[in-house]
Amino acid sequence: MTGHLRLKEQKAVTMEQSRIFQRATHQVMPVALSGSGIYITDAQGKQYIDGCGGAAVSCIGHSQPAVAQAIMDQLGKLAYAHTSFFSSAPAEELAEYLVELAPPGISHAYFVTGGSEAVEAALKLAHQYHQENGQPQRNKIIARWQSYHGNTLGALAASGNKMRRVAYADILIDVVHIEPCYPYRYRRADETLDEYGRRAADLLESKILELGAEHVSCFIMEPVVGASLGAVAAAPGYLKRVREICDRYGVLLIFDEVMCGMGRCGTSFASEHDGVVADIYTIAKGLTSGFVPLGAILLGQRVYDMINEHSGSFRNGHTFSGHPVSCAGALAVQRFVQQHHLLDNVKRQGRELERQLLARFGSHANVGEIRGRGLFFGVELVADKNTRTPFGAQLGVAARVKQESLRRGLLVYPGSGTSDGVNGDHILLAPHYIVSEEEIGCIVERLAQAVDAVLENIA
Ligand code: PMP
Repeated sequence: MTGHLRLKEQKAVTMEQSRIFQRATHQVMPVALSGSGIYITDAQGKQYIDGCGGAAVSCIGHSQPAVAQAIMDQLGKLAYAHTSFFSSAPAEELAEYLVELAPPGISHAYFVTGGSEAVEAALKLAHQYHQENGQPQRNKIIARWQSYHGNTLGALAASGNKMRRVAYADILIDVVHIEPCYPYRYRRADETLDEYGRRAADLLESKILELGAEHVSCFIMEPVVGASLGAVAAAPGYLKRVREICDRYGVLLIFDEVMCGMGRCGTSFASEHDGVVADIYTIAKGLTSGFVPLGAILLGQRVYDMINEHSGSFRNGHTFSGHPVSCAGALAVQRFVQQHHLLDNVKRQGRELERQLLARFGSHANVGEIRGRGLFFGVELVADKNTRTPFGAQLGVAARVKQESLRRGLLVYPGSGTSDGVNGDHILLAPHYIVSEEEIGCIVERLAQAVDAVLENIA
């Protein structure tokens, strides 16, 4: 019970030694001590090149004095003021900045502390919109399988990631899922990409009609699927058709850009690529590059007006919403991205990443697909390339590649195959926006060694 603070020498910790309850209890975790550029150093002095920004979070380097200074300056001025009493200068400035950055029609920002909270807020806002529009019966949410929207109960219910849902399935709210747009697995041999995109989008219309359009509140999707599939962008035309279908039936469209947004795909918003505008966006991760926790939803004028002209308040709120220090940190990160023209580097090095991945893995017998956009790439690993048969989920191929990569001083983000064989293992790469060509070479080389080491043990 004394709980006194002590400094002790830190090495890697097993979960038995650690008082932090996280992840698998049998795991051994290196203790991260410092970060610089795209490298993290652990307590034993081992350096890791960060090939995935954690979970596509860190993007401007692990230490940036200008960001640290902005955070310190805000702490010195005002650490916290509850949003039921005050707005704050950094929150106001960040909202202005984001609205300006966002596609036309987006008029307001609402701040939370991360991606899951943003998704919860988006789903609730859609619900409230319909209530205030005199359509309280619109209470059905449609999402997609093989998606990830977060870990809180509402966000997890929207998530179509079976592995993450399974332990909690019986306490999740009823969200209806449709098949995602995943050309590698679902496009028929006789279909063009465009035809497939249309057919995949039409699954949304069929589902809305099956449920009764008057009962449907919103459709939530990741424009480029991250954690659950590994950088799978929708086929051309899919987003546009989804937008048309939502408009036809009065359903609100939510783009979850928590992972793929804020420059990760080479444009500020991933969906800019398709020229389609959602009613609500969720963002987090790259917004602050991990320096401080912050998420946001961005909403269109139509949604704002509905609330503003009726109840006048969104019935949602968290103690740390709009935290001034987080908003100041986000502003400094966004300034850094702009001042250094980092999205140009995302596009340039994204092409380099694709080139090197294709050169190293293009004819690899166990690499089914290399896909992605900007600095957001997935490598799908399969047991048989011709039949696209995934490895058995019990083999844990992606998790093993992560471990072998760690041993070689590389961070990559694994995605497991599902036991129903619907999707295979993948490795997600999301290097920092400041990455150089040489560093990309190092990431790809270490990954190739790790993949081969795992496959040798399986064969
Ligand atoms: N949405 C998407 C698309 C995500 O990738 C994630 C996190 N990986 C979340 C929501 C949840 O965000 P957080 O972990 O910050 O709660």
